[in-house]
Amino acid sequence: MTTVGILGGGQLARMLALAGAPLGLRFRVLDVSADACAGQCAPLTVADYHDRAALERFADSVDVVTFDFENVPAQSAHWLAERCPVFPNPNALALTQDRLAEKQLFASLGLATPAFRTVDSHADLIAACAEIGFPCILKTRRLGYDGKGQYRLRATSDIAAAWSAIGGAPLILEAFVCFDRELSVIAVRAQNGELRSYPLAQNWHQDGVLSASLAPAPEQTEVAALAVAAVHRLAEQLDYVGVLALELFDCQGQLLANEMAPRVHNSGHWTIEAADCSQFANHLRAVTGLPLGSTAMHGVAAMLNWVGNLPDRGAVLSEPRGYFHDYGKAARDGRKVGHATIMAEQPAQLADALGRVAARLHRQHQIAPLLAML
Ligand code: AMP
Repeated sequence: MTTVGILGGGQLARMLALAGAPLGLRFRVLDVSADACAGQCAPLTVADYHDRAALERFADSVDVVTFDFENVPAQSAHWLAERCPVFPNPNALALTQDRLAEKQLFASLGLATPAFRTVDSHADLIAACAEIGFPCILKTRRLGYDGKGQYRLRATSDIAAAWSAIGGAPLILEAFVCFDRELSVIAVRAQNGELRSYPLAQNWHQDGVLSASLAPAPEQTEVAALAVAAVHRLAEQLDYVGVLALELFDCQGQLLANEMAPRVHNSGHWTIEAADCSQFANHLRAVTGLPLGSTAMHGVAAMLNWVGNLPDRGAVLSEPRGYFHDYGKAARDGRKVGHATIMAEQPAQLADALGRVAARLHRQHQIAPLLAML
């Protein structure tokens, strides 16, 4: 019997626990919040990630540790790694916690990125804006996710407001890229170095939060090889074990790396129903030393995120291949509370199904960009 410990008890940990049940895996989850939603599916330890006594008890009760989110303190991950196996390794985790280190790694591996400058002072910001030009986007180097800790600048007159919003913390200024589309590629690397990746997804964001994904991304033959080579290079460089996601901007066929996530990823939720072996099952296979599963997908799939509150599930469940996921969270503005995956054999059938869901849920704004691609 293998017990997997997960640091972070959100929906990703919850979906890992659900995926691990058929493999006979047991789980323990550690989170700072007593109502972390993975606690509905696995025993939950409520503790601070810096609490060494709690971490020690946690390490003693599991066979391997992994993460549901990347902002677990890297020192805690290192400390745990001296007591039990931790995948992905804490160095990879630490690197993805700093947008600057991440961008420098991309550059060192020959992966293009949006132009960027580090910003540690108001004077740096003025100089960086002059070099990068407008529009540009100021981001905290650490602890940012889902568009949090970001400020978009359109002109010199925005500098003061941007600085007062997030100044003081270590920052990075990036050129605002007028991309044609956003893509992500999800790879999984086993302990023996074997690498597999899923078909690319095209993603749409609303206020910095993922709103919808379409897989496979249309017209992906040209860019897929580039994206897969990039994520494989990263995984090898980091001696990575588990699922690694890479977010990319597609600018007329040129791919710019935005960021990576050292965990299962929201843009891969469609793999639960539409791939031979989901990203969750494959992550668990990797971290427990089992053979990887096939990453092939069937037909086409759309994933719709439910942010804030859940819509009527009947609209999704009445579709022949509509799957509704409720994370068991209380409704709250900006919070991811669930998602749906809708599948079909052919793009035209998926378009019909999405059209019906859009009409029943009054979600045209969320679904129209996907329909335009089908
Ligand atoms: P991030 O947290 O860096 O993934 O940013 C969230 C979203 O903001 C991205 O998925 C993009 O939609 C947008 N975004 C972030 N950085 C840039 C950029 N340099 N240029 C254009 N859009 C961006």
